[in-house]
Amino acid sequence: MKTTKKENIRLEITYGGYYNRSIRLTEETQIQDLEYLKNEIKDHMPDTLDMEIVWDVEHTCSFCGYGWEEEEGGSPLCCNEAIEEWKKQNENNK
Ligand SMILES: [Zn+2]
Repeated sequence: MKTTKKENIRLEITYGGYYNRSIRLTEETQIQDLEYLKNEIKDHMPDTLDMEIVWDVEHTCSFCGYGWEEEEGGSPLCCNEAIEEWKKQNENNK
């Protein structure tokens, strides 16, 4: 018999420009909106609880759009434009 139980039960708040998804909000605006929501929620929370605004970070190349990867020395791997830019910056740092 297949048995099913709920695991990892948690409160999760998701947000993504909920009032108009066609408007693309800047990172700054999204964080400001979340700070506002956080303060609104905090007013109704016991002091023993806390919340944190968190995000994942994605690194991409501005030239080719691929995910940013570096070899051991720090040089990017995705495309010549990125490699050339890195070489120029490294020369200037010497
Ligand atoms: Zn690239």
